[in-house]
Amino acid sequence: MKVLLPLPVPGPYDYAVPDGTDAPPGAIVRVPLGAREVDGVVWGEGGRGIAEEKLRAIAGVRPAPPLSRTMRRFIAWVARYTVNSESSVLRMALRASEAFDLPAPRRALRATGAEPRRMTPARRRVLELMADGRARLPRDVALEAGVGGSVARGLVSAGVLEEVALPRRAAVAPPDPDAPGPELSEDQARAAALLGEAVRKRAFDPVVLEGVTGSGKTEVYFDAIAQALKRDRQALVLLPEIALSAQFLERFEARFGAAPAVWHSDVPRGLRRDVWRGAATGDVRVVAGARSALFLPFRELGLIVVDEEHDGSYKQEDGVCYHARDMAVARASLERIPVVLCSATPSLETLVNVDRGRYRRVGLPSRHAGAAMPEIATVDMTRAAMERERWLSPPLVEALGTCLENGEQALLYLNRRGYAPLTLCRTCGHRLACPNCSAWLVEHRLRGGLQCHHCGLRSARPEACPRCRAADTLAACGPGVERLAEEAAGRFPGARIEIMASDTLLGPNDAAELVARVERREVDILIGTQMAAKGHHFPMLTLVGVVDADLGLDGGDPRAMERTWQLLHQVSGRAGREDRPGRVLLQTHDPRHPVMRALVSGDRERFLEREKRGREEAGMPPYGRLAGVVVSGPDEDRVRRLAHDLARHAPRGPGLDVFGPAPAPLSLLRGRFRWRLLVKAGRGAALQPALRSWLDPVRPRGGLRLQVDIDPLSFL
Ligand code: ADP
Ligand code: ZN
Repeated sequence: MKVLLPLPVPGPYDYAVPDGTDAPPGAIVRVPLGAREVDGVVWGEGGRGIAEEKLRAIAGVRPAPPLSRTMRRFIAWVARYTVNSESSVLRMALRASEAFDLPAPRRALRATGAEPRRMTPARRRVLELMADGRARLPRDVALEAGVGGSVARGLVSAGVLEEVALPRRAAVAPPDPDAPGPELSEDQARAAALLGEAVRKRAFDPVVLEGVTGSGKTEVYFDAIAQALKRDRQALVLLPEIALSAQFLERFEARFGAAPAVWHSDVPRGLRRDVWRGAATGDVRVVAGARSALFLPFRELGLIVVDEEHDGSYKQEDGVCYHARDMAVARASLERIPVVLCSATPSLETLVNVDRGRYRRVGLPSRHAGAAMPEIATVDMTRAAMERERWLSPPLVEALGTCLENGEQALLYLNRRGYAPLTLCRTCGHRLACPNCSAWLVEHRLRGGLQCHHCGLRSARPEACPRCRAADTLAACGPGVERLAEEAAGRFPGARIEIMASDTLLGPNDAAELVARVERREVDILIGTQMAAKGHHFPMLTLVGVVDADLGLDGGDPRAMERTWQLLHQVSGRAGREDRPGRVLLQTHDPRHPVMRALVSGDRERFLEREKRGREEAGMPPYGRLAGVVVSGPDEDRVRRLAHDLARHAPRGPGLDVFGPAPAPLSLLRGRFRWRLLVKAGRGAALQPALRSWLDPVRPRGGLRLQVDIDPLSFL
């Protein structure tokens, strides 16, 4: 029998099955590997030619539901698509080994009615407490009777108390599918009916749910989830920043009477076990999770929702590189279920799939309850009268003043954490850089010190320039959110200002707490990075100031324009979400740039058509396909040699080009040198097979690593 191991080994291994052991395909089994015993999954019948008696036998079958055939096919599919081994994909699906054992029964204590031979005051208190005949957890017995734990244990040995097993509570309370939702508008009802129909049909059916922020997409897919639940099927909602979506969880709970099960990399062990097992047994009905939730072994999945489908954080860029949105579509296809891709700004990939007739599109044209879209204008920074070391232009300052006078809230958006992105010596021009990465060190004043945003390295800000030794010559260059907060506080001394960035908040609870404070109007000016741009609904927020709208537009990324447009559109959508109209000011050095023009005019169709044409002419995705190949290692010479070696043996052919090698823009990362190759393939070319036959024979040695990134989003 073949057993796939979630370890860096080439393929499934053969094992013998002892008589009387039932290990069906998909079963999680313990097998010997060298001197160890490890978990693996029964992957199929044994190979030919190996005598059964020469094989080592599996050691046992774990009491967990076997991975379904669909789940196994999904794992194999992802491995093939991403050009990885099935083992490394299986590893992502088994990341909850504590879930493979039966949950330990909860033991409680109950009085037997017997009298102890020796009575003490403590024992008497316990007996009086237990006289009502109820079973209690040992902890509660001690607590309620006010005695130490040993007293109850002594009474158990004396036969006065007995242990009984308590039925397990459901780990996650089930949502109620019949809980009433809000009355849907006509457009919403139409979209909900279409999704409901798709859920009932139980067929693969990708639907793009498109609507401006605030149009009620969430309400619409909640309705589809209710339909799935009513048909005894599970639902999965993928969210880009699950750790920060307290608002989402609250809304879900308000709608369905119970929160969904949550899944992301920081979920504590106990919950991890319950959610993994619950997904497999069917006890957990709805999971809201980050991209890794896609690898949960659902028993009867009926619907997948990918919220903010255009969001770049769906792309995993280390280990197995995959795009969770695309893999969600693949899983839905194997499960034969609908998948809903939601966004106010669907990715070009998704829109082109609509054009090609592969996805259906359903739109929600206006904001719920008629809230108007905000008015968007640019501030030309080449003409603005800017003071030295200041980043808020006069028009933005004026708008902020008005906003505060009206008792409304403002968001200043700058996607830069810390105080200043660069520190430089005014005497010799030396720039403080990370020793492990090709990146500047970013100054953080709130937490103190300098930090590399790539490897996390921290150091104190030096007193003197490390190169020329001049004292007091280091100057902060450019703004981060902390410096902006300083400027805002200087200009509006009475205003309550808060920063929302991943490093100024301690974690999900802290983030939720800040969001709640903004909702309660305890904050006047919120200064935030991308984290503040996403999803939040702040009724009194009427002004959005984008401090540097050009950030992210340069560089060789083919999606730079699309991404900037999406992000700025999304940030803009934070303004004026209820009855007060919203206003957005974009500070830019190029007001005539197509992205700025598209935002100001609201003419997104023209912008998208232009983007599509540009990509098509260049053979870029989604009209052509790309794969990144990164060679990395601690020794630059060996990295370069392997990269050149690869290039010499690169596949060439009709519809297939290989560019490079060249040092990556981020040529040093965490102490590893990096070189890149880029494979460009026409739509019809067999990209993955070509990569396989090129790269499979290569066995990197001496700390070298080779990483393949199909459909890369990052070119660093
Ligand atoms: P989106 O997901 O498109 O950004 P939401 O679903 O978050 O939009 O809706 C925006 C706001 O409008 C939310 O507060 C939501 O509860 C409310 N809302 C949307 N549709 C309705 C409806 N039919 N009835 C009542 N409130 C609604
Ligand atoms: Zn670094």
